[in-house]
Amino acid sequence: MGSTVRDAAAVVLVREAGRRRETFWVRRGREVSLGGGFYAFPGGSLDPGDRAMAAALGTEALRVAALRELFEETGVLLASTPFDSAAARRERRALLAGERAFAGAVRALGARLDPARLDAAGRWLTPDFAPVRFDARFFLARMPPDQVAEVWPGELVDGEWVTPDEALNRWSRAKALLHPPAKHLLQCLRDAGPPACLARMVTPADAIDFVGQRIDFQRGILFVPLKTPTLPPATHTNCAVVGEEELVVVDPGSPYREEQAKLAKLCHGLRSEGRVFREILLTHEHADHVGGVEALRRELDVPVRAHRLVAERLEGEVPVDGVIEPEERIRLQGALSLSLRAIHTPGHARGHLAFLEENSGTLLAGDLVAGVGTVIIDPPEGDMRDYVASLRKVRALGVGAIFPAHGPVLPDGPGLLDATLAHRVERENRVLRALAACGPSTPGALVPHVYTDVAESAYPMATRSLLAELRKLVQEGRAVADGERFRLAGGGS
Ligand SMILES: [Zn+2]
Repeated sequence: MGSTVRDAAAVVLVREAGRRRETFWVRRGREVSLGGGFYAFPGGSLDPGDRAMAAALGTEALRVAALRELFEETGVLLASTPFDSAAARRERRALLAGERAFAGAVRALGARLDPARLDAAGRWLTPDFAPVRFDARFFLARMPPDQVAEVWPGELVDGEWVTPDEALNRWSRAKALLHPPAKHLLQCLRDAGPPACLARMVTPADAIDFVGQRIDFQRGILFVPLKTPTLPPATHTNCAVVGEEELVVVDPGSPYREEQAKLAKLCHGLRSEGRVFREILLTHEHADHVGGVEALRRELDVPVRAHRLVAERLEGEVPVDGVIEPEERIRLQGALSLSLRAIHTPGHARGHLAFLEENSGTLLAGDLVAGVGTVIIDPPEGDMRDYVASLRKVRALGVGAIFPAHGPVLPDGPGLLDATLAHRVERENRVLRALAACGPSTPGALVPHVYTDVAESAYPMATRSLLAELRKLVQEGRAVADGERFRLAGGGS
């Protein structure tokens, strides 16, 4: 994988009052590329300036990064000397505006940083499916009693003190998405305060080489990105294991042995904990969604089900044992019960199903939308009119987060669907304008006029999408097909 790894640091701030233990968590803005919409601990990437400061203080650069990020994001400054709080607010503002470096701000306050107030609380590396990976060091620190933690809107939407119990509760109810390190650290903090919690914090059970092996951004849905021969820029297909006691696997798509072994290992681990696999569900028949079905079916000895049209397409290639009817509800028993409702969403493929987890509103979207790259609508299998209708149908369901088959989880489902629909309308308007300007034309001739934003190497693919767009206009009586050529309806030549 060619993804870059960035050093990063984050701080788990803790305050205790009597028996009540709280930590300060922040929510990242939805537009932030990694972790947008997720709850997390204050933190961020190492800055070049951190190294120089660290050398002067005789400490590690990551500790300085942690102290700087904590100050930038919450206004809390861990110092060994007192400083003026009004001046600190001014310095923080100047720092965020880029008018000041951290070293300058600390100097102006006459404060002395205190890296010793940070206790090492573990290291986590972003899995390699992400375009940007963070090698993050976590630190635990007690909240200085004379300071106030406060988020100023920006990259962070909000921040608040929360008990670990309440935080995990919100995660359980899918009201807060958490990355594996945040979940682990909250669980440790729920069971013990500092310093007792530290030993467990640095030895997470489900991590190998600092990479979390069980990615449940939401309770009851394990996110398992596996390498597949899919369409660039995507490199993985996200398989999902859904349920707490009764489990289903959605789209085990990888044809690669190593990836299949990874999935099998995860599944056997879950089984050894007493969980029961019920079946494998498919969103659609494309190779990057079904490449690992046969291997997993043999491994787990469970049936495979899909939409009737998908089962027909796969005949002779991948055995499908049963049909999923549109609107069917697949109920999974457990401490947390889940209900997957099959939503027929044709457009990308005629038998395409998305699965709506009804208690949380989370949508396992398959290829209805993409977290990376775009969804291909390739006629005659692909149908733009159906596709737009499917997007509208799902939008009306009141979905929350969307787990697409490719790319990162999208916390703001409605926002994403609106943006995708707006993009379709915009494309359609471009097609109409191109038809008006060029007169009767083949899709290939129209591509440079419509897809002004794509490289020529992508023209063949764009031509297929354009054909889908044109066929939609014909179906709607807004364009006419004359052999290979298309023109506007109503005499527009
Ligand atoms: Zn597909």
